Amino acid sequence: MSISKEGFSVYPVIVPTKYSLRSFNFYLLEEAGSLSLIDAGINSEECWEYFMQTMNENGFTLHDLTRIIITHNHEDHVGLINRISSIKEIPLYAHQESIHRLKRDKGFFSLRIEFFDQLYREMGCGAAGEQQVQKLKDAVRKNEKNRIQTDIITFAEADRIAGLQVIETPGHSPDHVVLLHEQKKCLFAGDHLISHISSNALVEPDRDGERILTLVEYVDSLKKCLQLDVEILYPGHGELINNHKELITKRLHRIDEKAERILRLIQSGISTANQLAYTYYKGKYESQFPLVMSEIIGHLDYLETQHKVQKEVKDGVWHYYAYGKPIKKYEVR
Ligand SMILES: [Zn+2]
Repeated sequence: MSISKEGFSVYPVIVPTKYSLRSFNFYLLEEAGSLSLIDAGINSEECWEYFMQTMNENGFTLHDLTRIIITHNHEDHVGLINRISSIKEIPLYAHQESIHRLKRDKGFFSLRIEFFDQLYREMGCGAAGEQQVQKLKDAVRKNEKNRIQTDIITFAEADRIAGLQVIETPGHSPDHVVLLHEQKKCLFAGDHLISHISSNALVEPDRDGERILTLVEYVDSLKKCLQLDVEILYPGHGELINNHKELITKRLHRIDEKAERILRLIQSGISTANQLAYTYYKGKYESQFPLVMSEIIGHLDYLETQHKVQKEVKDGVWHYYAYGKPIKKYEVR
């Protein structure tokens, strides 16, 4: 499949998966005589074969590639970079905030582990938090081999590469960008917007180990894209999107609804993020611990910035209360 408009062609590489993401998508973009790869899938033989097949079918070889551009650092978007650059050295373009993650910077990753260790303690997670921190430590060792070898050229808001305008959209990840072609009215959206599932604003520290208010940022980034005049949106997973305004409105609405439900739980007397996650997500609490904690913490930040909740620390753990009510003494149940 290719989508062509006067010297501008997009060749999607769609790698199906049985998981809820449905597919890993990345894109070849032919523009003004250059061939860019936007995102680079997962690091698997199957993904490589889909990529090579798309190249072959459209008469390209690896030597035709001009550059790789990534929307964010997640492993399912950068998987084939090392393999490609071991065959042909081409520039990799990424956001400044991607570098320490792509380069597996040791200082940053130990800071990141300390960050989650402290966060889960302060959110009252106990043993579940300690277990997750251990998993993170193991992952750092395991992922060392995924370090991106090639040099990275950084970009920032409003830069232009391959005829595309860079738009910073932090939220799903701190380094997330979408890439806009104004004339062709198309947007390469990474994981900012996915048709069949809502994208998660994952809790992350910044480079100094400070917590980013990821959901608050994500909401701002969604609103930013609501303004864009776009006819087709190329997402990192699932089907292509041609109703982005409708979808963004739906996502924003859903975030508000979820925040309201969490607020009601707080009003009922549940006060820690851990208890909220456990009550709200039930079975998913154990199987998807980092994700559900991320969601609850994000929505608590969101409620806090709207002055709907306030928090106080008690024995090293944050307790949240509905705003306006006097902060009560915490009672052990
Ligand atoms: Zn992602």
